Amino acid sequence: MLIIDTKACTGCKLCEKNCPFSAMVVVNEKAQAKDNCTLCGACMNVCSVHAITIERTAASPEELAKFKGVFIWAELDEADGGERLVPKKVVLELLTEAKRLAGTLGEEIKVLLPTDGRPVDTDILFAHGADAIVRFENKLLWPYSTDAYTTVISAMVAAKKPSIFLLGATPNGRDLAPRVGARLKLGLTADCTMLEINDEKQLVQTRPAFGGNIMASILTPFSRPQMATVRPNVFQVGTPDATRKGPIEDFAVTLQRGVVRTKILEVEKLAGLGGGIDTAKIIVAGGHGLKSPASLAMLRELAAELGGTLAGSRAIVEAGWIPHTLQVGQSGITVSPDLYIAIGISGAVQHIVGMSSARTIIAINNDPEAPIFKVADVGIVGDAFVVVPALIKEIREAKKKAA
Ligand SMILES: Cc1cc2nc3c(=O)[nH]c(=O)nc-3n(C[C@H](O)[C@H](O)[C@H](O)COP(=O)(O)OP(=O)(O)OC[C@H]3O[C@@H](n4cnc5c(N)ncnc54)[C@H](O)[C@@H]3O)c2cc1C
Repeated sequence: MLIIDTKACTGCKLCEKNCPFSAMVVVNEKAQAKDNCTLCGACMNVCSVHAITIERTAASPEELAKFKGVFIWAELDEADGGERLVPKKVVLELLTEAKRLAGTLGEEIKVLLPTDGRPVDTDILFAHGADAIVRFENKLLWPYSTDAYTTVISAMVAAKKPSIFLLGATPNGRDLAPRVGARLKLGLTADCTMLEINDEKQLVQTRPAFGGNIMASILTPFSRPQMATVRPNVFQVGTPDATRKGPIEDFAVTLQRGVVRTKILEVEKLAGLGGGIDTAKIIVAGGHGLKSPASLAMLRELAAELGGTLAGSRAIVEAGWIPHTLQVGQSGITVSPDLYIAIGISGAVQHIVGMSSARTIIAINNDPEAPIFKVADVGIVGDAFVVVPALIKEIREAKKKAA
């Protein structure tokens, strides 16, 4: 709660000017908070007469300790023409990371599984680290709708009280997480690139901030669960253990048709944009060092020889050489291929966060000081217009010899 000491307030309007949400107003020379105040504390920090204080209802350590377990939302995809449902790859990535976090905390991993009742591959969830599954089946849960999923997931989280709740930063995950956060009055750190447990057993949620120029480590000290989304491909999928099994608990919640205020009339797939870099095993990525879109022809040739896919930096997306669906990085797609070849890409931090989890990175750049070399496993200092044709020639000759 924001408390204004009206006797101390001088009506100087510093709070009004510095509020990032335009939620402060000075009326009759006294500050007032509007309904959209987020308690961010910006006004309190600038008040020179200390007339503003924020009273947070921090949960006591005893209350926080009641929240246990690392929970993950199992977002599903259709498989076998819709006959059954399978967890998205990001769910397996989160499970792998959750094993590390839960191991440090000495807590269990539970998967929240809302489904429409079709068979779901739950074995894979246990094999990748789930200790238990909490399931709720209802026809209204397909296709995804904000209302239905917010109702069900909020109910599950409120009842089960996890200490950590993780969701994939997929389009639906990005839609759902803030809705659950708002309903349960929780914090949320979106698009995390790193998760750690600190000495106080808190989740340290790290993500790029201020245009990617700093990495911010965010804590959630006042509430539980600590909720974060993580982009697909940020974490690797671990090795499954098919012997692992666990219980499946059916959860009870009321989900009425009237709750869902939207209706999907038509689903239109974006075709012909050449996307799919999020699942590509080999990526040949070009940057502004290639000078013109015509140079991408040699990258396409290299990609074709390797059975890979073309992608690029934001600089060449903005220049109109490739569509945004092929942009790697913070404001593009996060990729995790086996091989990433960066050609004429400087290696700005916003690009690196989108590709640093690639298994092997090869960088070709004529500047030996280019930051891309700091993350590259193999660095070739040279002119792309010389190196790339030479590489294509070598690969073709090697293929001929092998044939
Ligand atoms: C909020 C925000 C979000 C952003 N999101 C993204 C993002 O998602 N993805 C992204 O990529 N960027 C992003 N950026 C932009 C990013 O900061 C860089 O500007 C961009 O990545 C630079 O692209 P580049 O490396 O292709 O071009 P440049 O920085 O111009 O680098 C070109 C490189 O090519 C090399 N070169 C030149 N000639 C040759 C040659 N003949 N042979 C070999 N090498 C050569 C140069 O040495 C140089 O290193 C973002 C920026 C902001 C502020």
